[in-house]
Amino acid sequence: MEADITIIGLGPAGLQAAIHAARKKVKVVAVGKSEASSLNRAEVENYLGIDSVDGSDLLSKGREQARRFGAELLEEEVIKLTKDGESFVVITDREREIRSRALVLAVGISRAKLNVPGEKEFLGKGVSYCASCDAGFFRGRPVAVIGEESEAAESAALMAEYASKVYWVHRQLKASEQMVSKARKAMVEMVQAKPSRIVGEQTVTGLELEDGRRLDVNGVFVALGAKGSIELALELGIIPDPSGKIPVDENCRTEMEKVYACGDVTGAPWQLARAVGQGCVAGENAARAVRSEK
Ligand SMILES: Cc1cc2nc3c(=O)[nH]c(=O)nc-3n(C[C@H](O)[C@H](O)[C@H](O)COP(=O)(O)OP(=O)(O)OC[C@H]3O[C@@H](n4cnc5c(N)ncnc54)[C@H](O)[C@@H]3O)c2cc1C
Repeated sequence: MEADITIIGLGPAGLQAAIHAARKKVKVVAVGKSEASSLNRAEVENYLGIDSVDGSDLLSKGREQARRFGAELLEEEVIKLTKDGESFVVITDREREIRSRALVLAVGISRAKLNVPGEKEFLGKGVSYCASCDAGFFRGRPVAVIGEESEAAESAALMAEYASKVYWVHRQLKASEQMVSKARKAMVEMVQAKPSRIVGEQTVTGLELEDGRRLDVNGVFVALGAKGSIELALELGIIPDPSGKIPVDENCRTEMEKVYACGDVTGAPWQLARAVGQGCVAGENAARAVRSEK
């Protein structure tokens, strides 16, 4: 199939890009998995003007809106991405080929997993990968932060402002001295151990450690660092930065002409507000680029 713009990603960044581009009367195809969006698992309470909203509801309304403005949405995964002359060629897992003149990468990130029993089961029920997103849910309750690097130190120091008690569980500290001392000053208790299991009933009640100890906590923050979904960019010839994110300028342009990127894949903070903001910029600019050719 042919399009003016292909958007890869059906999270908030991709959908907002689709809405803004489609309103400019260019042909937009957005491809991705709605279920795979990070927002699908989120209960958001820090988005402007909205006290609390279920992420999956927001996505479902966003999809309706994008379709209403004329974007075509495909629940498919991209398995190959190449360039053929002036065209970007996307191949999906349903063996569909989409050719377009501009491309928006809104593929999000996959957060590094701890890979212990209980992690998956209690995701959103005590297990979190984002302290700045979920800190408020753990006000006055004990939590553990797991990780070795500065992201974990930052998360632990932040959680100390909300939680009744914060354990920072690590094996070998790799965070900078300043970050470690920031966490210590915040009265974070350092626990040198390897987590073995997250336990609970409806929600988390504890973190078991390999040495047999158990921490009685209601929250487990996994802060192992984040890795961008960079493989597609590399296939195309765009080089992500050393931390795995795709560099963009203020117009959400990547180093390759007519390729834009937006949302979590372009860097922190991994937040809905940033994703929709950049989605708007990427969608507008991609549409402008293809319209100027017509
Ligand atoms: C548990 C949890 C709670 C959160 N709470 C909050 C909160 O309270 N407040 C807040 O602001 N933010 C919160 N966030 C963060 C927020 O959800 C993200 O910042 C936001 O979803 C990023 O949007 P995005 O569109 O960049 O990426 P995502 O929403 O992750 O979407 C990525 C999209 O890319 C698609 N994709 C990836 N690879 C391919 C491929 N090969 N082919 C096709 N499609 C592909 C996926 O299918 C998906 O549709 C939370 C996140 C989590 C996980």
